[in-house]
Amino acid sequence: MSLRRMLEDPLVNQMMASHTECHALLNLMGGELVMIGASKAYRYTTNPDGASGDGIAIAWRAGCRVANLEFNQFHPTCLYHPESRSFLMTEALRGEGATLHLPDGQRFISHFDDREELAPRDIVARAIDFEMKRLGADCVFLDISHQPADLITRHFPQAYERCLALGIDITRDRIPVVPAAHYTCGGVVVDQYGASDVPGLYVVGESACTGLHGANRMASNSLLECFVYAQSAAQHIAESITGELTPPKTWDDSRVRDSDEEVVIQHNWQELRRLMWDYVGIVRTSRRLEHAADRIALLEKEVLGYYGRFQITRPLLEMRNLARVSSLMVQCAAERRESRGLHYNSDFPDTASVARDSILIPAHFDPDTALNGPIDRLPHYHQ
Ligand SMILES: Cc1cc2nc3c(=O)[nH]c(=O)nc-3n(C[C@H](O)[C@H](O)[C@H](O)COP(=O)(O)OP(=O)(O)OC[C@H]3O[C@@H](n4cnc5c(N)ncnc54)[C@H](O)[C@@H]3O)c2cc1C
Repeated sequence: MSLRRMLEDPLVNQMMASHTECHALLNLMGGELVMIGASKAYRYTTNPDGASGDGIAIAWRAGCRVANLEFNQFHPTCLYHPESRSFLMTEALRGEGATLHLPDGQRFISHFDDREELAPRDIVARAIDFEMKRLGADCVFLDISHQPADLITRHFPQAYERCLALGIDITRDRIPVVPAAHYTCGGVVVDQYGASDVPGLYVVGESACTGLHGANRMASNSLLECFVYAQSAAQHIAESITGELTPPKTWDDSRVRDSDEEVVIQHNWQELRRLMWDYVGIVRTSRRLEHAADRIALLEKEVLGYYGRFQITRPLLEMRNLARVSSLMVQCAAERRESRGLHYNSDFPDTASVARDSILIPAHFDPDTALNGPIDRLPHYHQ
């Protein structure tokens, strides 16, 4: 989403002036506000580095409701290699006959689903997670080496070349894989135009919760959603732009100093992503969610202390936003006392008869100017 476009609306401009963090981000990121998903909350992710939940956190602080953040999709097979942290091993490999193995070579997926490797991605991801945790294993293995080498190189040239560069010849070797956070189904509550609760603020893409993905996104639906909503938002914005653009106030950092302790931010990053992986991952329990909420609150407090005292840096801003979004994810997950779609809590394994959204309402929510879409009519949670 382009912030310049958003700024053309005077109300957004007002919001920019009062929420100076947006402007800081704007400067820091070279003029574009980047609003992508929040999968970087997890230790393993297929997402690019920018997926640190900035858009969701900023919109939340500005007064937008967020919804369904407990529905995090995990891709079952991300390459596990220290030099390649987010390379996705396409599910077409399993479609072409690749099999999954424990470190000792045993196959295991038939214990979880009769469709074996062709089961849906959440079932496969959950099975791998279960086995990794049971064995304390770092990864499992995907094997397509029984297929003819020329079929593998023709059908999967990218996977072949990428792995070969790392010393793994997939025509002969097993591929080390882990499940990895892939898609954030929930996000900022928007209507059919991508408009949020803050008048003039539009959210499209993975930061938005349009409701289209429900509790479990079907693969490949997200780009379609991006195209449809981006066009709808662009039309709506073009029809409703009024007034002159006033530049927002510049970020004042005259009373803060350079941090000489970046190591703390680095440490917090790693701690947050690890605890999200361990406690708010593919399989959850109520006790783990409580523990995660406590730890995240401490991390957030520490990061806010830095935010108030030191020059902002991109890692600091991203950490602050990621901690906020992680906390919102945990709140949504804790409130859902059932298992549904991508959210599985072993204390509540059954699915409730009535489906409902988990909606969180921020401190700056203004019911007089907020959206009045269908999502409002559903039961929701107050924060
Ligand atoms: C590996 C992978 C495969 C996927 N495959 C599919 C698929 O087959 N079909 C499907 O429907 N969905 C797929 N998805 C999901 C889909 O790509 C995302 O949901 C969608 O792209 C999200 O759109 P977005 O606009 O929110 O974010 P993005 O598409 O990530 O756009 C954000 C943009 O911001 C830019 N950016 C980041 N940081 C900065 C910065 N600091 N300054 C300026 N610009 C910056 C990025 O370069 C990027 O162009 C896949 C996702 C991944 C990670």
